[in-house]
Amino acid sequence: MNPSAIARYASRRIRGLPGRPPVFGGATLGPKEAQEAHRLLGQPESWADPAPLRAFEAEFAAWTGARHAYTFLGGRVALGAALEALGLRPGDEVLMPGYTCIVVPNAIRFAGCRPVFADIETETYGMDLQTARQKAGPRTRAVLVHHLYGLVARDYAETVEWARDRGLAVIEDCAQSSGARLDGRPVGSRADVAFHSLELSKVLTTVMGGVATTDDAALAEQIAEAQRQAPEADSATVARLLRNVVLHEAKAHGPPWRRRQAADAHGAQAWVSTTAEETRGEKPTGYGRRLPAALARIGLLQLGRVDRLNAERRRRAGRWDAWAAAREGFKRPAVVAGSVPVFLRYPLLVPPERKADLAWARRQLGVQPGVWFKGEHHPVRADLPDCPNARRAVEGCINLPTLG
Ligand SMILES: *Cc1c(COP(=O)(O)O)cnc(C)c1O
Repeated sequence: MNPSAIARYASRRIRGLPGRPPVFGGATLGPKEAQEAHRLLGQPESWADPAPLRAFEAEFAAWTGARHAYTFLGGRVALGAALEALGLRPGDEVLMPGYTCIVVPNAIRFAGCRPVFADIETETYGMDLQTARQKAGPRTRAVLVHHLYGLVARDYAETVEWARDRGLAVIEDCAQSSGARLDGRPVGSRADVAFHSLELSKVLTTVMGGVATTDDAALAEQIAEAQRQAPEADSATVARLLRNVVLHEAKAHGPPWRRRQAADAHGAQAWVSTTAEETRGEKPTGYGRRLPAALARIGLLQLGRVDRLNAERRRRAGRWDAWAAAREGFKRPAVVAGSVPVFLRYPLLVPPERKADLAWARRQLGVQPGVWFKGEHHPVRADLPDCPNARRAVEGCINLPTLG
């Protein structure tokens, strides 16, 4: 073991800090999840039992205040199921924010539809309704609103209202804000269909996974059918995902020797959520599968602690907020009146030169900031001349960890 890693670890612990700087992936995984993954790796015969999947879907629905919830292997896959359920056809347009993850426009294109990008605002990084109105055309069939960094988007309620008036379907991307609320109602509950992510860097995780939720019985039946049609992950994939639970729990929370041990045992099987193919806009092999039931057991453990973790995130965001408020040159995020955010990260808008070189942040804050998003279609840069705020956010939005 590298002696300087041990010295750094000891020095952080002595100063009352976690043994390692916070990481952005797997921070919600705890020893129970790691033990469960370890146990499951030794009992592959139990993986076919669908009971944990149904239990997780029921609990997830209850947690988000939805009538129905269906799991998939990725939030992007859940979005694909939503588009199918809504009956969107080739050529239909989906109006959405220009500041997003590449996998979102990809899912829309894979469904044969066309994403149309509207600009965002830089208070909560949600779609700017005024811009969106101008982008709606005769082929627009659906509006996708998102909530980023654990915030509730500024124009959320108004955008839903506007879309309803126009007879457009509403899809909500809750991938970064699962558990957030507006006026007592969880995000996702105002849409026709919402989707959440269980990817490593999200509010709760099964390494990879996603959930589509709806209150509408007919849409629920369509999504259930999409789930039945989706292929199962093979056992090598299930094993790989479980190994990643062990690996990332150790990376996020373990002392150096345990991190090293986990890296030696499982590092070669590290999961990549967005492959090079996907960044090129190609549909990767194995896209569109169901969530393995064994991973739903990890999801159930995560649901048992997510509210506590989210409260902790809010507390730490409060500290960053006070820090930034006392300084020049940091634009803090807005918390919409009546909303309870979950602060997956604490975003700050800084001058571009400060995002380009983050050495100042490590010195002043003692942490490495996140750089979500690296491109308008993260991680891909997209030239969207009508979306100056999206560009501004790509060049200047950094984010600080709220767990770890
Ligand atoms: C992560 C993410 C997604 C996609 O979720 P996956 O589970 O990775 O497919 C979609 N939208 C946003 C805003 C995200 O952060």
